[in-house]
Amino acid sequence: MLRSWDKHVSKKYTSRIAESSATDDGICIARDCWGVLLNMLSIILLGSPGSGRSTLGRILSRRWDIPLICTGDLLRSAAEKIGPVAKAIRHTIDGGNLVSDEIVNHLLASELGRPDCADGFVLDGFPRTAAQAQFLSDVLPRIGASDPMVLQLNVSPEIAVERIQSRVQCVGCGRAYNSKLWPSGHPGYCDDDGMPLVKRTDDVERSIATSLRRYAETAASVIAHYRNANYHVLDAGSAPGTLLETVEGVVAQQQAFRFALA
Ligand code: AMP
Repeated sequence: MLRSWDKHVSKKYTSRIAESSATDDGICIARDCWGVLLNMLSIILLGSPGSGRSTLGRILSRRWDIPLICTGDLLRSAAEKIGPVAKAIRHTIDGGNLVSDEIVNHLLASELGRPDCADGFVLDGFPRTAAQAQFLSDVLPRIGASDPMVLQLNVSPEIAVERIQSRVQCVGCGRAYNSKLWPSGHPGYCDDDGMPLVKRTDDVERSIATSLRRYAETAASVIAHYRNANYHVLDAGSAPGTLLETVEGVVAQQQAFRFALA
């Protein structure tokens, strides 16, 4: 017997299939089915700078058609504005340090309030401190979000540094490329929107060292916060396609379990 929420979901599911079928878009159907069957898929990506969070985040966001919320990108945009707060954020980012919990929590809360987050979202770069993790745990039930799936990307500091050093980012959409491992098909320009690729201002030796040190200082407390969560450790050295397959496997397993209980 379907519970009322599941009935709502199954109705939404059927109508979305009808909509998608009309466009004859097989990929679109597959994506919609996942999003709806899952009710809401909230994913938190943890991992050091250079662990590939943003690359995986983009893949997962496309796969389940849910928005990617990257606090690094949000803060870089905020840093481009004029005024003392923007200046302080710019200074903090360029030094490889962490922006205050108060500012980041505020930015995140307004993003989570977006209507397109109703079916789920992927968080990249948040939480980075225990206080942020607690803030998120307090906010999620208030927006009706399911318990998040937490994915920790593990990578050695050596590989992380190497990746950051050869990282370039699109000035338009923020997509990151590795000029050695996965370069753009159009040298110097983004494959997605054709905008120029640039090095991030914080991808310099001293800031990289500081940001890795900050990660090492705070990671344990964030991980401890998710001690009893739906938590999965991934080998960030794996190819993005392999990581996606792993996450798909976990999601499918959880869906099967949920439907068995329904
Ligand atoms: P990222 O793009 O995730 O590498 O983040 C770039 C920079 O943005 C970090 O080095 C921090 O200065 C800042 N930042 C991003 N997310 C957070 C966060 N959750 N808390 C504090 N600072 C952050």
